[in-house]
Amino acid sequence: LGYSVFLIDKLLEKYESKNIHLMYDIACILDKQLKKYKVDVLDRISLSIPIFQCFGHKFSCQVIFNPRKTLGIGLTDGEGMERLWSYLGKFSSITKEMTPENRIDLLTDALIYYGQKKKQKLGASLVTKIEKSKKLLETSEQVLKDLLSPFQGTDKETIGNWLNAEIIHASSKQVNVDDEMNWKHQYVMNLEKLFSHRAKIDLYG
Ligand SMILES: [Zn+2]
Repeated sequence: LGYSVFLIDKLLEKYESKNIHLMYDIACILDKQLKKYKVDVLDRISLSIPIFQCFGHKFSCQVIFNPRKTLGIGLTDGEGMERLWSYLGKFSSITKEMTPENRIDLLTDALIYYGQKKKQKLGASLVTKIEKSKKLLETSEQVLKDLLSPFQGTDKETIGNWLNAEIIHASSKQVNVDDEMNWKHQYVMNLEKLFSHRAKIDLYG
């Protein structure tokens, strides 16, 4: 987690804006660490877990860090990095016989190309996304209205209160980092320990 915290510090240094939202596979663990050691950082950033990763987490993580329950990030899924890995995956067979230098050269070219394409498409893709979101909002409002019609007195505000109550309940379930971790969390923590021990050995060895 040291590396993520380092990157967050760099981001906050560069962008003074208060509205930085980060999506990270283990945002729940990062959040706990920040609460313990760098609580002021949490005033300037908010966190959520990429949408497909989120389902691998326990109930309370899914409630608190679900991107669909995070205000202000629209329908962003947080899977951008996965798309980049998938693009780069195509180069594994063509570059595997190359010398490391040539391989780095080719992958650099591929990444520059990927970045340029992304930038070129950004305008059009934002327009498509906003159109899609508007339609989805309309449909969702209608479906919600139909669903709520048999229940007199239940409106959006009531649902907002339920959602808040759910988050409060889930937050109370978020126990100590060491108490309840699924194997992925434990694995990451163990790796972190291993690296820190290794660094110490290198230092004195
Ligand atoms: Zn989690």
